[in-house]
Amino acid sequence: MLFIMSLFLSLVSPLYAIVFTSTVMCLADRLTTSSIIDTPRSVCDHCRRQLTWWQLVPIFGWLCQRGRCHFCHVAISARYVLYEISIGILTTCLSLRTSFHLTWATICFLLVLLALAEIDRIMTSVPTVLNVILLLAALTLRQPPLREWGCLFVVFILGQLVLHYHPVLGNGDLDIMIIFVIAWGWLAMTQIVLISCVLALLRQRHSQPLQQPFIPDLWRGCLTFCFLHVFTLI
Ligand SMILES: [Zn+2]
Repeated sequence: MLFIMSLFLSLVSPLYAIVFTSTVMCLADRLTTSSIIDTPRSVCDHCRRQLTWWQLVPIFGWLCQRGRCHFCHVAISARYVLYEISIGILTTCLSLRTSFHLTWATICFLLVLLALAEIDRIMTSVPTVLNVILLLAALTLRQPPLREWGCLFVVFILGQLVLHYHPVLGNGDLDIMIIFVIAWGWLAMTQIVLISCVLALLRQRHSQPLQQPFIPDLWRGCLTFCFLHVFTLI
């Protein structure tokens, strides 16, 4: 019975995770365009035509349209479908390897980080309330001992001072790195930041060397870290 229940959750959880990923990216896009209330259904970013139900189905909609808008044929970013597939695969792996709680704590953490990444990508700034939600999500993964909180507080203050005089990082980047420590510890944070820096360097080879938001790289770094450690997250 327990095995059947576990198998059922392993099959159903990824579907929910994919739908939540699609919803998070849609809400983040709408937040940045202030159309969260006045647009009842999503529209094409280019021609502004309202999308039909099948175009809104995660992964399936993108594949059926062959990555282009059904009306104006402008390319739809593959980012959406890649993130949905990645989160779906990760949820499957986590469901098979860890508990239901840890699976969804990790996925919820990634989804909040994805919302921050999408907003930062468009606005190069993030609302503080989302950092607070990310912190709460991190606390469902791990509760650091009291002495570690003291250490984190000192690092945060020193980091803020350094960034005040040498703004090498953007709004919220340091906060998110500290939240990584709360979620998985110092070694994990170092690994995620290193992966993110490598991904940022690779991305900048193919784009303009202007100041780019770093949270999208932190999100991709965190996703890569989760895949690399999917069997050792316990
Ligand atoms: Zn269109």
